[in-house]
Formats: sequence, structure tokens, C-alpha cells
Amino acid sequence: MTQIPLSSAAEAEHAAFDFDRNDDTRQIVPDVAYRQLAIVNVIFVGFEGAGDGNWVLVDAGIPGSAYAIRSAAGARFGGQGRPACIVMTHAHFDHVGALETLANEWDVPVYAHHAEHPYLDGTRNYPPADPSVGGGLLALLSPLFPTRPVDVASRLYDLPVDHTVPFMQDWRWVPTPGHTPGQVSLWRERDRVLIAGDAFITTRQESVYAAMTQTPEMHGPPMYFTPDWASAKGSVRQLAALRPEVVVTGHGAAMQGSEMRSALDALAERFDEVAMPPHRRA
Ligand SMILES: [Zn+2]
Ligand SMILES: [Zn+2]
Repeated sequence: MTQIPLSSAAEAEHAAFDFDRNDDTRQIVPDVAYRQLAIVNVIFVGFEGAGDGNWVLVDAGIPGSAYAIRSAAGARFGGQGRPACIVMTHAHFDHVGALETLANEWDVPVYAHHAEHPYLDGTRNYPPADPSVGGGLLALLSPLFPTRPVDVASRLYDLPVDHTVPFMQDWRWVPTPGHTPGQVSLWRERDRVLIAGDAFITTRQESVYAAMTQTPEMHGPPMYFTPDWASAKGSVRQLAALRPEVVVTGHGAAMQGSEMRSALDALAERFDEVAMPPHRRA
């Protein structure tokens, strides 16, 4: 697999992020921070010290991470560490792990694209992963695979049809299907911040080593769970065209600046070659 390396300039920019704030919660702009939990990121949208009901959790980590998310939220926002709502980029198992626990405990609504609802209302699990790609990490993740569908039906809502995002003023949701049918990205034009879910990611998730070390690299969506590569390519091209300044994705460290944009452009342009599994290339 061809990788798009980051330049040292990008690494210098990357190092400018405030990684020390709240231990492992990494703030990328004043009101957006994220925390890497094992292999996946959860994202906190809201200012430090905002208090209960004044921030939003984006995605809910792997199974078993409720305590870590709750603790990080309490440390950053104060109070009970309770958000206004939870917004899901998509419903893969590594993003919904603590969703039922936290949504019920916090008693908050959950917003997701309607195409993801069957995976959030107890109806069904995603199809099995494609075992012909990615090898190593799948074996590592298999103990986390769900044994029953996630069910937050009683508090589940569609994202608004006008593309606003509840409790996230100035943000818009952008449909970015391919990795899943109803995956969305979240975009704020004002400071060009992009939360991309797994539309593209900034680590090589098929590699156990890269997933653990989270070395920043620009990659297409995780191969083993992406069923629709044509849509996935269209989504990456759409996001590259936004010209983001800062991106945080489902996996890997946040990235920013012109070097990030160059890497994203290269991914968009050479998507078939660098992002798709060899046996899926047209
Ligand atoms: Zn995913
Ligand atoms: Zn993911």
C-alpha cells in the first residue's frame, strides 16, 4: 500500500497543538478537543469549563470506554461532565462502544443520519468485516465486535434536514457515505475545522503498529469495514474541496495546515491507487 508521508513542516505544525492540556485530551482549537481511547478518537465540542449541557460529544469510543470518556468530559467541562447531546459520525462498533451507557446515564438525545439508525435502534449489526484486507488489526479487534445491536432507539433522532447540527452553532453536517451508508462529517466554515469521522483517517488503521503509535499519515477509510468504495472516493473529494484548516478524524492524530491539505488532495486524486484494497481497484 502506498503511503503519503507527512513532511517535517506538517509535523512541526502538528506539534503546535496543545497536547498537554487535561493529560491526554488534545485541544485543537479553543472549543474542539479530542481524546484517543485505545484505537479510536472521541471528540469534545465546547469550551473548557463550559459546564453541564453546554458542549457536545461526537462519537462514543470502543466498548469499555465509558469511564474514560466521562472522566475526560468532567475534567474538561466541569460539573457532572454532561453534554447537551451526542452526535454520531457513524455507528461502527468502535464508535458506539460507550453510547448506550453514556446516553442513558446522561439522559441526552443521540443524533445520527437516518441511514445509520438501523445500527443504533437495535435492528441490526453491520455486515461482517472484509477479511481479505487488513489482517492483523482485525484479530486484535475481534473481542470488541458486538454480540448484539446497539439500541438507543428511545433517544435517537435524525440530523436536521437543513444540515445544521444540534447544539453546535455554526457547524453543518455533510453527508460522506461510502465507509457506511449514513456517515456524516461535521464542518465549520468560520475557522475551517473538519470532523471527518472515518471518511478518511490520519493513521494506517490496517496496521497494528500504526494504529497503536498513531503516527500521523493521511489514509482512506479503514479498509476492512468499507463496502462502497465509489461513494467513499466521492466523499474524500468533497471534503478535500472544502479546504479544511484543521482536521480530526476517527483514528489518528489531528492534522492542520497546508501540508495536511496537500496530503488530503493527493489522497483524493489518487484514491483508487492509495486507498482502495488491491482486489477492489477498478
Ligand atoms: Zn468506521
Ligand atoms: Zn472507526
